[in-house]
Amino acid sequence: VFLCQHCRMLGGVRRLSLLRSQALVAGQWTGADNGATFEVTNPATDQVLGSVPDLGPAETGRAVEAAARYQTTWETTPAKRRSQLLHEYFRVLEAHSEQLAELITAEQGKPLAEARAEVAYGSAYIEWYAGEARRIYGDYVEGAPNKETLLIRQPAGVAALITPWNFPFAMLARKLGAALACGCVAVAKPAEDTPLTALAMAELAQRAGLPDGTLSVITSSRRNAAPVGAALCADPRIAVMSFTGSTAVGKLLYAQCAPTVKKLALELGGNSPFIVFDSADLQKAVAGCMASKFRNAGQTCVSTNRILVQSGIYERFVAALSEAMDRQLTLGNGATDGVNVGPLVNDAQMNKVSGLVSESGASGGGGGARRRPAQPGRPLLRAHAAAGLSRPDMVCFKEEVFGPVSACARCGPQGGLRLRKRPCRSANNTDAGLAAYMFTENISQAWRVSKRLQYGMVGVNEGIVSQPEAAFGGVKQSGLGREGSRHSIEDYTDIKYICFGTQ
Ligand code: NAD
Repeated sequence: VFLCQHCRMLGGVRRLSLLRSQALVAGQWTGADNGATFEVTNPATDQVLGSVPDLGPAETGRAVEAAARYQTTWETTPAKRRSQLLHEYFRVLEAHSEQLAELITAEQGKPLAEARAEVAYGSAYIEWYAGEARRIYGDYVEGAPNKETLLIRQPAGVAALITPWNFPFAMLARKLGAALACGCVAVAKPAEDTPLTALAMAELAQRAGLPDGTLSVITSSRRNAAPVGAALCADPRIAVMSFTGSTAVGKLLYAQCAPTVKKLALELGGNSPFIVFDSADLQKAVAGCMASKFRNAGQTCVSTNRILVQSGIYERFVAALSEAMDRQLTLGNGATDGVNVGPLVNDAQMNKVSGLVSESGASGGGGGARRRPAQPGRPLLRAHAAAGLSRPDMVCFKEEVFGPVSACARCGPQGGLRLRKRPCRSANNTDAGLAAYMFTENISQAWRVSKRLQYGMVGVNEGIVSQPEAAFGGVKQSGLGREGSRHSIEDYTDIKYICFGTQ
């Protein structure tokens, strides 16, 4: 088990711009009917950043009604114009990238350098889909005699976008770019921990000239998340439900969308294996593991969850990884220079990760601990590493940790794919199927194992996989649909078959 546990720290208070305190519904900044609000806090300092409206199903219904009215206007806006507006949105986002990054760090906690990277990454999807808006092609097929067959793609209709807190900018940008490019207006429901970034994105969409109603942002507290989600699922005027978040909520939404048979795109939890074969370049493998495991303090769905290392390189890899953890990781307030691991986003997440670690310790982990001294401003900060103790019942191995913790075990030359007797060491032995990683210098092994991995994405000698040109998404219980590339167009459009009789 590799563990970095850290507490909230008190840090300097930054002045934030682009702070909004109202929700945006059909071009109007608005509050809750009953005036209810909830606070958004900085996870590094517990400082209150602001309050936003706590909207419920009634306000959601009105937002959907307004969005449905705007849908016709947006879908009949020429593709070229939609493309120009998205390009302009990209430019405005880029021009405010520093303010957006500071906002992300303040409400989500990640280091500023990572927040900047998130803005660049998310904005790249807006830019990509600005181009794709003009390339939503259909097909012409030669059919039966005297019949001309056309398959055209049309906007599906209003899209509901429910997003998590771990990438408050990028998760929304990925969905929004594709939806708007396809001619769908969007009703977004950001996570209760991080609504400020979504509101800033809505403000910038207005400044970029995106017409009223193309993007509404419903803010709601955790208490209202379920009723708002249920209202969106039940509403027949919502044509697409696109959700990123936990597998449990994804399954609930899947069931709630059944009565209205909506199009559904789900990006759910992962449980990524990180396989290091004997032939791997050790330094590359360690660097890949550090990037995959500790980015966003391990709070990414594609984060390494289980490290499987072939016996011949096991000791060397574990020693090099432990050393890299000691040397490279600086924990603290993400707004502080030099910090590269921020706080976990909230107490619930902290308790969940700590609980998984103690349960794993109780069932075989622990030992070999190396302590770090506490640092000023952080009452508790320690990193310890113990490897080789993973057992089949170790909970860290089975569950998605979503924190800077990973189980580590030995595997054979197939990456554990054939080890039926030792299922915990099999890379595919999980319900999740989002991302897997493998480090090897043996090209035929890389190809063979890549094909057998039951995952939507495989990184070969690469610890970070995701870009607008590629299809991000999972198999098994990690989700449905893809984000990025032309494949996302399928989630927001319907195919219409038009048959011309030419007799
Ligand atoms: P979560 O599912 O609790 O919350 C995600 C979003 O759903 C939030 O906006 C939340 O308010 C909303 N929500 C919560 N309950 C709801 C309900 N009953 N109906 C409708 N909406 C509801 O997840 P989280 O704690 O925010 O994020 C952590 C999980 O998300 C992890 O399991 C992680 O793997 C997963 N995740 C997946 C991806 C991906 O791309 N596959 C990306 C980020 C996070």
